[in-house]
Amino acid sequence: MDDIFEKIARHEVPADIIYEDEDTVAFLDIMPDVPGHTLVIPKKKARNIFDIDAESWSNVAETARKIAPVVRDAVGATGMQIRMNNEPSAGQVVFHLHVHLIPFHEGQPKNFPTKQGSTPEERAQLAEKLRALLQN
Ligand code: AMP
Repeated sequence: MDDIFEKIARHEVPADIIYEDEDTVAFLDIMPDVPGHTLVIPKKKARNIFDIDAESWSNVAETARKIAPVVRDAVGATGMQIRMNNEPSAGQVVFHLHVHLIPFHEGQPKNFPTKQGSTPEERAQLAEKLRALLQN
């Protein structure tokens, strides 16, 4: 069965996509921990780290590397955590591999920040800015 992220990758459901290439898509988390919270996914279906092939994982890692500094700077952050939940015991809720890019500011609590959320308008505005910066 198709999962929600597969549908986002195929543009079948709306998402604030900020970057896309042949193999990966990056979009804003709908319930961000902080502004700029971004998810990177492979287009090719994989459940999580236990399931993904090497090439697909490299593609995800490379997209994360490429966009991380742009996301960081766009929200005026100074750091970033990259997180990944694999299987329910580790907190995975959506079963299509995704890497979380979570910008951090000075003094921001380091572990498990509460989800701040965002409005659709806030996400759309930030996504537009990021798309322009990433020129994709
Ligand atoms: P997890 O599986 O626990 O690593 O987290 C799934 C993440 O996906 C959560 O941070 C959700 O807020 C996010 N999420 C779920 N549905 C969507 C969606 N349609 N668009 C963007 N982000 C989503």
